[in-house]
Amino acid sequence: MSSCCDCGSVIGLHGRRCYSCLLKIRAEQLISTSDGHVNPAFIPLRDLLVNSGRESSLANWVKRSSSAALIRLYVTNETPLTHESLDAWPSKQTATHVRQLFLATGLLPAREETLRRFDIWTLDYLIAQPGPHHQMLQRYARWHVSPALQNKATRRPLRAGSTSYARQQIRTAARFLQTLPHDVPATGHVQFLIEDYVLEHPRERDRLVDFIRWTQKHNHLPHAELAYTAMQHPRVALAESDYWAAISTLQTDTSISLRARVAGLLVGLFGQQLTRIVQLTADNIYENDGAVQLLLGADPITLPHTLAQLVTKLRNTRPPWTAEAPDRWLFPSKFHPNRHIHLHTIADDLRKHGIYTIPLRGASLTNLAGHIPIGPLCDMTGLSKAAAIRWADVAGRSWNAYPQLRTEH
Ligand SMILES: [Zn+2]
Repeated sequence: MSSCCDCGSVIGLHGRRCYSCLLKIRAEQLISTSDGHVNPAFIPLRDLLVNSGRESSLANWVKRSSSAALIRLYVTNETPLTHESLDAWPSKQTATHVRQLFLATGLLPAREETLRRFDIWTLDYLIAQPGPHHQMLQRYARWHVSPALQNKATRRPLRAGSTSYARQQIRTAARFLQTLPHDVPATGHVQFLIEDYVLEHPRERDRLVDFIRWTQKHNHLPHAELAYTAMQHPRVALAESDYWAAISTLQTDTSISLRARVAGLLVGLFGQQLTRIVQLTADNIYENDGAVQLLLGADPITLPHTLAQLVTKLRNTRPPWTAEAPDRWLFPSKFHPNRHIHLHTIADDLRKHGIYTIPLRGASLTNLAGHIPIGPLCDMTGLSKAAAIRWADVAGRSWNAYPQLRTEH
């Protein structure tokens, strides 16, 4: 009659050993590093397995399961022993099982379930956000948003509102980063993009401020500046009378450069972004029975008389070589034959005459939203539907007694 070579037991045999002794050996192997020494931190785990009373199933589990394979990575220090590393494990089922074992044996501290769900959400969200600024977003989420939430959790239990705000912080940062060109921070026009973003998403202002402050602290966006005054009043920074005065100046003041007048009027009358305006080409201009039309969205828009004259003049006075350039920019760069002008140049032209494009655009959107339906407004200005609805709301409340948009044709 055979018996276990270690303990002499005659029941529950598996080969030369009983399952109980087999589990002891396998559990010891499980918590040993590659040089054969037991990793002492994991002794409580070994003891838990050995004393579980489920010798035969666990002996096989230790040998074959994906959970045991994952535990090996921690025992051999190939993976840091943290909740986050478990969150990152591709199989949630395996990670959950291992986490339960680590929690039961005190290898990992208990973590608030709310926090855990937030970390898992963050991980999934970040994976779904590729793009040139992925790393910056990842750093922001991991080293700013998540630690702040953890600090909060150590003081008192987290409420759902706290994690939902943290999620929105990450979403705002992601959406803003999508508007940045690839070569940021090498280029300098971050400022416009920040202000444009606040105009498009007025409710996200505070969250964007938080993100920009973080980028400044860590020098991720060296050219970013927060114009705090503009940020405080992102919606309508121009009084109605100042708005019409600016439009009138742009229509009549010949001391302002032609390109700046055209760009300024496109901002002021049609709520266009400078980033979009500088990309217009001569091919976006149509002439029909004396009317001049400009393609701003899906359909060409008939320009008011003064602007039509200025646009035509701008097109006709472009440097001769730009006619040959394949892009036919309406606002060609003077220095680079195949590039359009930098939006800073135009903004500077206008600023010299006391016209600031950001509040001008805000006033313009307020005006437009009060007078044209949401669909065409989105199409013309490039606003999202949600943003257009917010502007319509602003228009309804602030400038309710507003004259019709002046068109002179
Ligand atoms: Zn035995």
